[in-house]
Amino acid sequence: MKQVQDYIRTIVDFPHEGIMFRDVTTLFADPRGFRMAIDQMLHPYAGIAIDKVVGLEARGFILGGAIAHQLSVGFVPIRKKGKLPGKTIAQDYTLEYGEATVEIHDDAIQPGERVLVVDDLLATGGTAEAGIKLIEKLGGKIVSCAFIIDLPELGGRKRLEAMGMEVHALCA
Ligand code: AMP
Repeated sequence: MKQVQDYIRTIVDFPHEGIMFRDVTTLFADPRGFRMAIDQMLHPYAGIAIDKVVGLEARGFILGGAIAHQLSVGFVPIRKKGKLPGKTIAQDYTLEYGEATVEIHDDAIQPGERVLVVDDLLATGGTAEAGIKLIEKLGGKIVSCAFIIDLPELGGRKRLEAMGMEVHALCA
């Protein structure tokens, strides 16, 4: 039987030379692949109390929406600067080249809510760390961080675990 990683294609030199881009659109487009990925991402959380799923732009929205629906909880987006219409709080973070900012609506998480963070891929962990800081600023408690792909050589898992986070990924 095909595994989750078998549905993911790698595009060489996208968006820059030297980057091996893991393209999960081929996984999302396949009915068995997408279902398998969502089921496997949910597996560690059976019986675990979760109040909200937070998805990181943009592929975290697709995964996080499906996971939130399965858990019967609400979904909250963390977006790049300037995209959310309501009152937001912001977090800057460092990219390979330059800086970026992510935002969350300031009323999206209530203090004490138990949050699952979702994205497609963990590389340096900078994006997830910025998202975690936003959730924690609103008083949310991170239960766990779920990804399809972990690129361990880029150090994201170690970085998040050093912050006390639990990290789950389906493949490397
Ligand atoms: P990082 O903040 O370095 O952990 O990067 C994670 C974010 O960048 C995620 O939202 C990923 O979708 C995206 N990303 C980083 N590297 C790749 C890659 N090689 N292939 C696909 N997406 C990537």
